[in-house]
Amino acid sequence: MLFPKLTLILCTFLYVHVTQVVGVDKYKDYKNYKSYEVTGNSNGLNNLKNALQEDGNSIFYFGGVSSTEVVVAPELNIKFREIASREKLNVTLLYSDISKIIRFEKPWPLRGKQELSWDAYYDVPVINKYLKNVSRTYPTWTNLIVGGQSYEGRQIRGLRINTPIDNGETKPVFFIESGIHAREWIAPAVTTYFINQLLTSSDPNVKRLRDQFDWRIFPSVNPDGYHYTHTFDRFWRKTRSISPNGCVGADPNRNWDYNWGQESSSHEPCNYQTYCGSQPFSEIETRSLSSYISRIKNMLFYVSFHSYAAVLLMPLSDSRQHVENYDDLIRIGKASLDYGYKVNNVRYKNIGTAAEILYPASGGSMDWVRNTLRTPLVYTYELRGNSFHWPPSRITEQGDEVVQMMLGLATEAKKMEYF
Ligand SMILES: [Zn+2]
Repeated sequence: MLFPKLTLILCTFLYVHVTQVVGVDKYKDYKNYKSYEVTGNSNGLNNLKNALQEDGNSIFYFGGVSSTEVVVAPELNIKFREIASREKLNVTLLYSDISKIIRFEKPWPLRGKQELSWDAYYDVPVINKYLKNVSRTYPTWTNLIVGGQSYEGRQIRGLRINTPIDNGETKPVFFIESGIHAREWIAPAVTTYFINQLLTSSDPNVKRLRDQFDWRIFPSVNPDGYHYTHTFDRFWRKTRSISPNGCVGADPNRNWDYNWGQESSSHEPCNYQTYCGSQPFSEIETRSLSSYISRIKNMLFYVSFHSYAAVLLMPLSDSRQHVENYDDLIRIGKASLDYGYKVNNVRYKNIGTAAEILYPASGGSMDWVRNTLRTPLVYTYELRGNSFHWPPSRITEQGDEVVQMMLGLATEAKKMEYF
């Protein structure tokens, strides 16, 4: 997710705790760590922060739009409760033992051959195997594509879907980038679900959607970070590059070369969440992916999936200035949310620019794409949830919403003669 204001106030001090200095990593099981939703005024939250700072090695937090998720180590639970009560903060227990939640997110059995399905969260190799398999199943109109490289030597793999058309015209490109923040597991899951629907659905609307575009879809553009969340730390967000001081990773959605390093960006390499890197495109993932994207001609849509906030964001993320087709973006975005709403009768909370409905953030892919490539229709979906743990048994629920939301985008853009 982007990085909410409330959390931002709190973030500057505590994020040095989890294993992030290079060395031998040990699996962090989060046994008996509790997860709370905390709301209240910023003063109270600041006081909570300061009081717990001495024990900063054991507590951390992430946020939604109007609340903050706090994950508390067992030894700090009483202290946390006391301070929250003294500061009159509202505390709701989300999970009494995070380790159990994490365990049930993964496929079972953990060992042996795994095939991608949408009732568990799978690591990079299984996603890549799925992409390879479907490219073989539909060899005439799909291709396995490589959008870039990772620090640890992985490829950023995706699927191109481009069904033939009779008149020989070039179709507009619809680009989907997912999983840039490693711990937002629902994002890669709904993206592969969406691919599967494009390939197999018998719904004439989905077939039409498939045939309208030249699709480039990348489920996991931060494969090192994502793999790390599966193997060492479920809450890792960044890449896995190593800074000269030994700290690991940069936030790949603060690293793009547009107003780099300004809003909501940390310049401290050990910052657990929003270190923006040593310079624009310091991360090979963003550097190579941006280079791949630059070479695409005729890109109409650029869509990015994150979690969680249940909002639809559009450029620009770091300023209140409106882009010239702002009204169109709102109208097309609203149509998308209306389509999504019809699936489960659940509404997203808002649509707008990040600076206006969340908080300003610089160096994200969306702003770079819009500014550098002038792509007309650029969006970031913050998927639903109140934590990074969306139940695996309900992946298809958001998957079906995403299918309809993409259909809503295309239908309204067509009406408005964007293609
Ligand atoms: Zn994110």
